Order: sequence, then structure tokens, then C-alpha cells
Amino acid sequence: MKHGFWQDVLNAWSKLNYSRKDNVTDILDSVLWYNSDILVENKPIFYLKCYEIGIIKISDIVNENNEFLSYNELCRKYGNVIDWVRYYGLIAAIPQDYKNIIRNEDFNDIELATFYDNLIKKDLTSRDIYFKFITCDDSLTKIAEKWEEKLQSPINTDFRSDVFAKIKIMTLSTKLRSFHFRLLRNVIFTNDKLKSWNLVASDKCTFCNIEIETPLHLLWHCQTASHLWNQLSTWCKNHANRTMNLTLKRVIFCIITDNPKDCINTICLIAMQYIYSARCLKTLPNVACLKDKIIDMMNIEKYIATKNNQMTSFRKRWNGFIKDQAI
Ligand SMILES: [Zn+2]
Repeated sequence: MKHGFWQDVLNAWSKLNYSRKDNVTDILDSVLWYNSDILVENKPIFYLKCYEIGIIKISDIVNENNEFLSYNELCRKYGNVIDWVRYYGLIAAIPQDYKNIIRNEDFNDIELATFYDNLIKKDLTSRDIYFKFITCDDSLTKIAEKWEEKLQSPINTDFRSDVFAKIKIMTLSTKLRSFHFRLLRNVIFTNDKLKSWNLVASDKCTFCNIEIETPLHLLWHCQTASHLWNQLSTWCKNHANRTMNLTLKRVIFCIITDNPKDCINTICLIAMQYIYSARCLKTLPNVACLKDKIIDMMNIEKYIATKNNQMTSFRKRWNGFIKDQAI
């Protein structure tokens, strides 16, 4: 087996199938489908609709407190992609020792006890702990190297400490955070990968059906994406007098401006997630729908800012986009 890709596949496969996970990160990272640890009627399972909407790993069906989503929460997050009997059957199929470890996340690793103590004393949430972990991850250097190769452009040294922390600052939406995290971790599934796993018939792009569908093609190089970015750019200029200086690297990392709190960066993330979800739904993205999503996000943030008495920072963040004089 000389090809590095297939070695990686087999290594990953055997790791997935033949080793029991004993820590919460690995368990949450476990793929639900075709996993010999997760059996329904003694068989590994694969639910296509769930897979297509982005339910891939155990982490996709738990909330930020590591509790499994209720059926209603699941429907709110992903739509009606599975009936409740199947969904609870899926949860029941996850091994009990995995569930125990997920539930007792904070108390499993004795070596980390002091670390947790300190965090708890500082009254931080599980979300803060999670971000602490991901910014400590040695693999970030490897991720940066991979992106340098893909983008043919150097990634500055701030990447390691900065990039994942920025996701948190950029948006309150867990859906957008999750998407950006998966994109940067290279776990966005497009037809190039799906075809190599024999899950789709063609590796061609869902939108143009000409080029091979990679994440970068789908989100940037494809004529459909390119047209959408141009329209979005024009709208931002006409509607809010904001210039979007777009390049592939800036778009992927959502660093259109230096300030991660600037809504322009969030708009870029909303656009990428929208393009990807249109691909999953096999529809063409259009700028009218994208504008609605951006305005919806602004209104949600306005509501939260009103509740938390943070209207000053809200106005600063959405400068130019706020048209309602009553705000
Ligand atoms: Zn295309």
C-alpha cells in the first residue's frame, strides 16, 4: 500500500473500528456512520439525509454542555431529517461507556484536575474550556502548513493562537462556528471526497458540473460562487457603503478586516456556510436569500444586544447595515 492517501484511509478506518476511544475528544470526534461501535440490529448504520445535512460525528448531535440534543432540538438545528424513533435508536446505539465519558468530561482525566479547578474557579463555561483545548492543540501547526500548501501563501505565526479563537469572537451562532471550525479542519465533505468513498456517482461540482468539487472550488473558484461573491460585494457597497476587499485567503479565514468583531467578517462566514448548505440541498445559491440571512443574523444580534444592554457595540459592529432609525 504505497499511496499515502489510502494508508491514511486504512489507518483512520482501523483506528475508528478497532480501538475503543477513552477520552471525550476522540469520542465526540467519532463518525456515527459505518462505525462498528455504533450498531443498530447488530449492523453499522448510515442515514443519508442526516449525513447530507451535516450530521457526521457524535459531536454533531450534542449541545455545548455535551448533552445529546432532544428530538425537537435536533429538528430545530437540522430540520426534519430523521424520525424520532430512528433518532433515539441512534443515541441508544452509542456505547454506554462512551456516554458515561461524555457526561463526566470534567472528571475523567486526573492529570487535568488542576487545570479544571483553575477554570472552574474563574467561572468559565464548557465553551471556554473547549476553546482553551483547541488553541493548545499541536495539530494546529500541521493545519497551518496544509493551508499554506493549498493557498500557496504563508500563514502568519498568529494562526496558532488566533484563528480558532477568532471564530468565537466573530459570531454567536454555533452553526456558523461549527462550519468554520470544520472548514479550517478540512472536514467539509465535497464530491471529491465523497466520490473517493463511493458515496456519490460523480466528483463534479454540484453547481457547475464541470470542475471537480473541492471545498475551495465550491466556495470560491466555481463560477456560481464567484458570481455570488461579486453580487454580495456590490450589495455591501451600495447598501452599507462598505468595501469588501475579497481574496481567497481572506474569505477562507474570514479576515476581510483586521477586527474580528467587524460584521464584514461574519458576513463572509454566513456566505460560505450558505453556499455549502445550498450545495447540500442541491439548490443554486442566490444573493437575495443570502441578504435575508445576513439581515436575520443582524436582527438576532440586535435582540440579544437589547437584552444585554450592549447596543453601543452592536451599532459599531453593524455600522452601515443598520437602516432602522428606531435602533
Ligand atoms: Zn463549480
